[in-house]
Amino acid sequence: MTNTLCVSEKYPPEYIKKAHAATFANEREILVSDSCKCFYCGYSFNPKTEEPLHWIEEIYPRKRTLQCPLCGIDCVIGSASPFPIHEPEFIRICTETWFGGISRISDGLPVPAP
Ligand SMILES: [Zn+2]
Repeated sequence: MTNTLCVSEKYPPEYIKKAHAATFANEREILVSDSCKCFYCGYSFNPKTEEPLHWIEEIYPRKRTLQCPLCGIDCVIGSASPFPIHEPEFIRICTETWFGGISRISDGLPVPAP
């Protein structure tokens, strides 16, 4: 795995850093999203119909952080965020950057069945 995989002109590192912040204490944003994406396993789901949803408590006054319903990793972003959560290049850059090339998406594994 080389660093070139993390480089994208379309999505500079600062942008990817901001996107990572959207995976944390994101309860408010998730609840108004119609779809969510896990940036570790690639699972897409509707937070309004998906259940049960598991939340991680954060220190007040932060909102809670959503865990992926499939893999349990707290790396989910909702469609109500300003980020292109279903754009393949964006997803690839995020997962490569955040997990150092070690994720189901990086490995090219299919999204696990619920
Ligand atoms: Zn997942």
